[in-house]
Amino acid sequence: MDLSTPLARALPEAAYKQLRKAEAFETVADLLWLLPRRYLDRHSDLGALEKDAYVVFIGTVVSASTRPMRNRRGTMLNATVRSGEHTLALTFFRAYGHDKKLVAGRVGLFSGTVSRYRDTWQLAHPHYEILRDGGGDDLLVGIRARSGPEGSDHFEVRDELDHLVGDRAVFPVYREVQGIPSWTLNDCIRLVLDQLEADGSVAEVVPPGVARERRLPGFLEAMRLLHLPATRDEPHRGLRRLRYEEAFVVQVVLALRRREQAQTAAVPRDPRPGGVLEAFDARLPFELTPGQHRVGDDIAADLALPRPMNRLLQGEVGSGKTVVALRAMLAVVDAGGQAALLAPTEVLAAQHHRSITAMLGDLAEGGLLGGADQGTRVALLTGGLPAAARKEALLQAASGEAGIVVGTHALIQDRVQFADLGLVVVDEQHRFGVEQRDALRVKAGQPPHVLVMTATPIPRTVAMTVFGDMETSVLDELPRGRSPITTHVVDNPRWYERAWERVAEEVRQGRQVYVVAPRIGESDARGAAAGEGFEQAAYDDAPPVGEEGEAARRPLRSVLDIHAELLDTPALTGARIEILHGRMPSEEKEAVMAAFGAGDIDVLCSTTVVEVGVDVPNASVMVVLDADRFGVSQLHQLRGRVGRGGAPGLCLLVAQDAPEPARERLAAVAATTDGFELSRFDLDQRKEGDVLGARQSGGASQLRVLRLARDEETILQARADAADLVESDPTLAGVPALAAAVRERIDERQAAFLEKG
Ligand code: ADP
Ligand code: MG
Repeated sequence: MDLSTPLARALPEAAYKQLRKAEAFETVADLLWLLPRRYLDRHSDLGALEKDAYVVFIGTVVSASTRPMRNRRGTMLNATVRSGEHTLALTFFRAYGHDKKLVAGRVGLFSGTVSRYRDTWQLAHPHYEILRDGGGDDLLVGIRARSGPEGSDHFEVRDELDHLVGDRAVFPVYREVQGIPSWTLNDCIRLVLDQLEADGSVAEVVPPGVARERRLPGFLEAMRLLHLPATRDEPHRGLRRLRYEEAFVVQVVLALRRREQAQTAAVPRDPRPGGVLEAFDARLPFELTPGQHRVGDDIAADLALPRPMNRLLQGEVGSGKTVVALRAMLAVVDAGGQAALLAPTEVLAAQHHRSITAMLGDLAEGGLLGGADQGTRVALLTGGLPAAARKEALLQAASGEAGIVVGTHALIQDRVQFADLGLVVVDEQHRFGVEQRDALRVKAGQPPHVLVMTATPIPRTVAMTVFGDMETSVLDELPRGRSPITTHVVDNPRWYERAWERVAEEVRQGRQVYVVAPRIGESDARGAAAGEGFEQAAYDDAPPVGEEGEAARRPLRSVLDIHAELLDTPALTGARIEILHGRMPSEEKEAVMAAFGAGDIDVLCSTTVVEVGVDVPNASVMVVLDADRFGVSQLHQLRGRVGRGGAPGLCLLVAQDAPEPARERLAAVAATTDGFELSRFDLDQRKEGDVLGARQSGGASQLRVLRLARDEETILQARADAADLVESDPTLAGVPALAAAVRERIDERQAAFLEKG
């Protein structure tokens, strides 16, 4: 018997059937991974009760009877339960359902808050779970909470119930599995563990040497510590092992991938003196920041190697990633290759195309009359392009005439041909995984160099887990002369009016304003944040579903509403107010963005299309409506649209009646403009899967016990151990169970990718 043994073969038939009915437990491992929610300590003493004491105890039903209520309709149930030498009355004002379960002789686990009724202690509507259908009066134990609400896990125990708990002082409580008592679950798990240990055929995933070094128990021992602990500390030791193992498998997957990449060949792109890069540097209107220099050097060195660069560039919003990317692209052009720049939205692709063309000036007119000698061409390739323009761009890409091709991510899926694709830059994107890189490999013949730029800074553990197969560079300083951004939460109507006056002031001074709403407003009942797939945030951080509560029922503000409202706002009379959203035709979107960029629009009402990357230095105010419906990094991104020029930035987060977690989120965003700090906050507040997404995480979204916000130490250790192991045993021949676990991770990842397309 091992972990993949079907549960049916490990349990008595009756027990298996009961479990099977409740949930899809397939294998022995499925059951073992049902980890306890909390632990109770043994305790007795229903003899010394006080009012409002919270008690949990195991007791035997001595008697139970129902009777009609005197003043009301309905039937009530009174029962007496004995635990040790003490008894306690239970009262239910609706007998229905309970009368079938609370039958004299049965043994149950009861919990509730004690009250006094006519000189006796009683529990009104306690929670309970029948453990055994009867089993004699000798099954007596009491467990009483010393203090704290139900669910707190500190209990003090004194009595005994030997043949239920043996001499254990602690016993586990599992989550609700369709009415199956914790006890039965624990019994089943014990049975399974006993057999697994007896058979001795569970192979360790973590090599014994590593486990010894890190002082970790073996896998089965860890499971025993968790399910059948003798002391309060044991579950922690068990958990430590499981966390480590999870981190270790992920890190081995990543270490193997790094190794594979190191052995892949790519065309080295050596720098060429006197080329377009030098010409570009010479005419840059600003000094590069030290960070931009440093990262630029790293990239240049990578590009010159005969294996594919695979680098993640993390940068604070506004830190100047585009220039870094452009310089890398120009280096590749100098070396005779082409570069593709992929943006998450058409708006952003068009902007990149515009600004790169502008920055290059006549360097972007290679081959044209009047173009510079070393010049090249920059082509734009997006889905919304008119047929003729698209054809022209395709031709330029295929012939190699365009040294730089800018497009949306669809570019790598499309049947776009390149003459010699040497570098792919992925802008503002977290989710550019192994699979996309594989698609590129197919496209380019030999794998191109890849530079991924993230929309928002990410915590170190996320970088190491999600992007653990990439080199990382960080741009953590902003260019000089940046203006500070002030952020306020606007949560009452009076401030709301004041906000528009503030906007009007700014417009009068010749500056520009973004107003972002969560939906468009036609017939899209759902929020734009969720509904407009093609405008999806680069960082998948819409607030968790279900959090909205009351606020969910309030209609969300829409772009069309707010546009109408602002046109009617006296303070804004005469202001040029326009709209922008993803449902507009491409040319229209582009025309609006271009007009806003040129200063011909004062107030732009839009969806989150402006979330990432949009760069209009004259814009000074960002108003976000229903800000509670956006995630932390989305808000940080939105705010990053202002304060890019000489004027101080102002960000107003409008949110009324926001629920608690959202208010915390808004307060956090208002409190700091440090993206790294915010990303850590974000990771703390949200679940792993939400942060990682299923796609690019090397299976990390399936993490069961590892928490990236908490387990940095573990992840670091696992990463170091994984690198050592893969170096000494790259085929994992010495650790077959690990090899199998790694294969499984990779398969899961591919399955997730195929599902998502
Ligand atoms: P992000 O990292 O958010 O993508 P961008 O690349 O859009 O930032 O840069 C933001 C703005 O800063 C752009 O207008 C860019 O031209 C400008 N910029 C970039 N580097 C510098 C620099 N070293 N000094 C001054 N301005 C810079
Ligand atoms: Mg950018």
